[in-house]
Amino acid sequence: VKRRFWRNEDIEARAQGRLDELAAKLGKALTPPIPLELLAEQVLGLDFLWDAIDELPGEVILAGLKAKDRLVILNENRKAKFAEHAGLERFTVGHEFGHWDLYTDHATLDHPSLFAEDGGPVVYRSTPSGKLVAVLKILRDVEEGRELLQAFAARADDPDEARAVNRYSSAILMPKDLIRSEAARIDRTNWHQLYRLAERFAVSITALTVRLEQLDLLVIDRKSGRLHPSREAATGQRSLF
Ligand SMILES: [Zn+2]
Repeated sequence: VKRRFWRNEDIEARAQGRLDELAAKLGKALTPPIPLELLAEQVLGLDFLWDAIDELPGEVILAGLKAKDRLVILNENRKAKFAEHAGLERFTVGHEFGHWDLYTDHATLDHPSLFAEDGGPVVYRSTPSGKLVAVLKILRDVEEGRELLQAFAARADDPDEARAVNRYSSAILMPKDLIRSEAARIDRTNWHQLYRLAERFAVSITALTVRLEQLDLLVIDRKSGRLHPSREAATGQRSLF
């Protein structure tokens, strides 16, 4: 199945549309942090569950989408990792929302998922083929098979889909207009203030800086480590010296 290619502006529009639906239902404008549980419950029609998700040696699976049951499953074996990294759980949830909202055919609830027909977790997260899943289960039981499996780049999300759902997560957690107006009020070249902004939106500092860079509200000079409030400011700085 050839999946849709999503352009950034369409992802932004879709995410903003969902947030607008939520604001309309709540009868008030949204303020940070964006209430993901309410978005799931009132707009997307999704629920959450903590459950153990099988991982291969060396693999990290934080969560999965069980489309037929309209469930986002968070991997309870990774609770410590979520606890260690502030904002990771929310970003992961937004990522799974993206799989649901951008790539799931809601008429058939067809989405390649982590879960086999019997409802048990499977090892291969993006195959629609039951046969391949069975083969992978066999491979997992022998050492050579495990080594082979680790070499399979295809186990992760398709790169286009990963990019799109991560962009969706960013746009949900840090809505364009909200983050713009909040970012305008701080000194974006000051790490301390950036950290406070990340806390306000309940996202990681990495997620925040990526979002600000997407919206041309920040440039991090990777060589000098210097922060600039826009691309224009960064270019101006460079030509000055
Ligand atoms: Zn994914």
